[in-house]
Amino acid sequence: MELYNLKHPDQTVSFSQAVRQGLGRDRGLFFPSSMPKLDNVDELLAMPFVERSVAILNAWLGDELGEETVAALVRDAFTFDAPLAQVCDRQYCLELFHGPTLAFKDFGARFLARVLSHLAGDESLTILTATSGDTGAAVADAFYGLDNIKVVILYPEGRISPLQEKMFCTLGGNIQTLSVAGSFDDCQSLVKLAFEDEPLKQAIGLNSANSINIARLLAQICYYFEAVAQLPEERRHQAVISVPSGNFGNLTAGLLAKAMGLPVKRFIAATNSNDTVPRYLSSGQWEVRPTVATRSNAMDVSAPNNWPRVEALCQAKGWSLAQLEGVAVSEAECETQLTALHKGGYLSEPHAAVASRALSLSLNPEECGIFLGTAHPAKFKESVDELLGLDLPLPEALAQAAVKPLLSHSLANSFEDLKAKLL
Ligand SMILES: *Cc1c(COP(=O)(O)O)cnc(C)c1O
Repeated sequence: MELYNLKHPDQTVSFSQAVRQGLGRDRGLFFPSSMPKLDNVDELLAMPFVERSVAILNAWLGDELGEETVAALVRDAFTFDAPLAQVCDRQYCLELFHGPTLAFKDFGARFLARVLSHLAGDESLTILTATSGDTGAAVADAFYGLDNIKVVILYPEGRISPLQEKMFCTLGGNIQTLSVAGSFDDCQSLVKLAFEDEPLKQAIGLNSANSINIARLLAQICYYFEAVAQLPEERRHQAVISVPSGNFGNLTAGLLAKAMGLPVKRFIAATNSNDTVPRYLSSGQWEVRPTVATRSNAMDVSAPNNWPRVEALCQAKGWSLAQLEGVAVSEAECETQLTALHKGGYLSEPHAAVASRALSLSLNPEECGIFLGTAHPAKFKESVDELLGLDLPLPEALAQAAVKPLLSHSLANSFEDLKAKLL
């Protein structure tokens, strides 16, 4: 597989190089030079999830890593299901939260961890990543116990839920967590600065694991096929998928699935009040405003770092950006939707509720909507309990983490301080 740097198209790399480097020159994102098109989509849709995922990822990676290796990595990473739950007549939720840390990021993080440990061999590596919530848990869990890989996770102090914090800041071992006095965007900037510091990179074998890493995006393609596979056949060609978006990695993966031949009528880019993309899609103006805190805090991103990939992909496929619908959902609408879903018998959480609300606003009568359930309701217990008047029991994974002490250290919003900690 060959990828090129979106900022410097003359810089091309292999998949292994892209995974190891994270970003190209001038912080450019890597993007596939060509996208494989599957000619047996119907056949694939009839296959079980893991076997189909092996075939999908082999179309990208088989040449470079070997088909047997890819199969082994996929089987080891995808150990849980992604059921499609019918929520009302025309809406389904693809539940991506049945993995070890109860969020969709388990898919990408577990695949990436296995790819990296395969590529690293005997070398020692440092993973540096920023999280607005769920990435931290997914990355920490995916790498925990891999002794040749040290993981450093930055998160915005006081801006993630206490339970989310417990999930990745109580592990210890090869997982180090730093709470930064700043926003998620500040954390992302610190990570980007570290990746620009060549001597630092060399000294600690720096690697990235956030949603800019191409291995995560490729893994995420697989569950879009799973969503369509579970739809009743007569509805497959009317599928509209609403993606609750922050950094837009998830939406990029959905578009890659469509580029490979998955029948999806259209995608909705659903955001909370951090609505840079919906405003851009309607006005053509890219204007980043200060990040605001919402209940769907994993989507509190005002400068989404995967957006250039969405544009590159649409351009490569000759798709107009106008085919993407951007829908920004206010806090009040999110709350109303969560309550309405619950009244209809479906327990959800704020991120999925944003995507569901966007479907309710946008779906035409002949269409069939799928929204992505990106996190388990209990991960956002504070919001869900308060809005629905419940006292949700904690799933086992959360209950165990909740009683452990936090092992995080605080960090000023300063690159020098970060560097000192890393060295
Ligand atoms: C990360 C995350 C999102 C946003 O996904 P992107 O790929 O960054 O757009 C949505 N919901 C939840 C629960 C998340 O953790």
